[in-house]
Amino acid sequence: MSTFKAPKGTYDLLPPDSAAYLAVREAIAAPLRASGYGYIETPGFENVELFARGVGESTDIVTKEMYAFETKGGDRLALRPEGTASVLRAALEGNLHKAGNLPVKLWYSGSYYRYERPQKGRYRHFSQVGAEAIGTEDPALDAELIILADQAYRSLGLRRFRILLNSLGDQECRPVYRDALQSFLRGLDLDEETRRRIEINPLRVLDDKRAEVQKQLTGAPVLRDHLCDACTAYHEEVRALLTAAGVAYEDDERLVRGLDYYTRTTFEFVHDGLGSQSAVGGGGRYDGLSEMIGGPALPSVGWALGVDRTVLALEAEGITLDLPAATSVYAVPLGEEARRVLFGLVSELRRAGVSADFAYGAKGLKGAMKNAHRSGARYALVAGERDLAEGVAQLKDMESGEQQAVALAEVVDRLRQTV
Ligand code: AMP
Repeated sequence: MSTFKAPKGTYDLLPPDSAAYLAVREAIAAPLRASGYGYIETPGFENVELFARGVGESTDIVTKEMYAFETKGGDRLALRPEGTASVLRAALEGNLHKAGNLPVKLWYSGSYYRYERPQKGRYRHFSQVGAEAIGTEDPALDAELIILADQAYRSLGLRRFRILLNSLGDQECRPVYRDALQSFLRGLDLDEETRRRIEINPLRVLDDKRAEVQKQLTGAPVLRDHLCDACTAYHEEVRALLTAAGVAYEDDERLVRGLDYYTRTTFEFVHDGLGSQSAVGGGGRYDGLSEMIGGPALPSVGWALGVDRTVLALEAEGITLDLPAATSVYAVPLGEEARRVLFGLVSELRRAGVSADFAYGAKGLKGAMKNAHRSGARYALVAGERDLAEGVAQLKDMESGEQQAVALAEVVDRLRQTV
């Protein structure tokens, strides 16, 4: 072991477990790819101001959890704590919204960084797959994204997750509600920091996890009673489309989420086997964000699903993904001549699309066969001098133990057909 360890709050993805992470990313991306979402990749860091304005000055993510730093050149940057602000920035900068094809539908996958108190399911470096649909106000688009996330989780075999749904209103009705909520909250017995939050972002107080705060919130005005007609109709349509699609959800009027930019539809996917870090994904509509970062009005909706927590959710449900073995054929040469011949065959097999590996280093037959077993390969391809003299290699079925001589010239075709 070296003297160095992974930094606090981070961990390494190592084989064989790392295969499940790749499969989760792939499973989340697949329904997006099949629904018109194009792949986008943005830098791991951005101008810090983008997050301050885009995510919100009053959020924990920006005030407490951001890895912000000044470069040698004097630029103020931050490691990205989330994906939406960057994706919208990139779409605006690339003029994707002017190509005449709205909504601009994008998906992404990458690393995110938050200086949080680490615990199971909460890390300082984590991984998300996300989707954003930019430039269109249409309840079907909100419903589409929720349905696709549901589809992704189900394709992995997950069942014990729930969808929480709420509407946060718009620039017309939310301020009225905000005032009513502020009046209510100012009358409560709360600490200094929470009192400050009442003035900056009172909706966030509803999100407070402390029992003594939650107790006082009984009887707080709820947004649903303050939604304007347009927001109510919009929300009803989203709900109807989800129901028609057979996607079950729970109305959660307390759901506000930790980012400032959300309007109207807000949702969270929670998993019941994860303890306190139960949110496996979340998102919503952010109609005002583009203007907040200096762009034109572009009503948009999106979500981000956490890869780390999705893997934990699979474990919690006892699901082992049915992943194909990484290696189908493992070549075991006996002697120098056989090394050259089998190495050549391994390269040919790979070119023919058959995954193959080779016993590297000077190993004896026993050690090499042990490696062949560990690789998970279905077949071992073994050859020594006598085999070569006869122009064959021995093909051993690792499951049945059966072995049979195959002409060297036929090995590739034969394996291409069987694996
Ligand atoms: P958020 O942007 O906070 O809504 O996060 C979206 C999803 O990313 C969450 O539902 C989690 O699955 C995941 N996530 C957020 N923060 C962390 C973290 N610190 N560690 C692991 N996963 C996280």
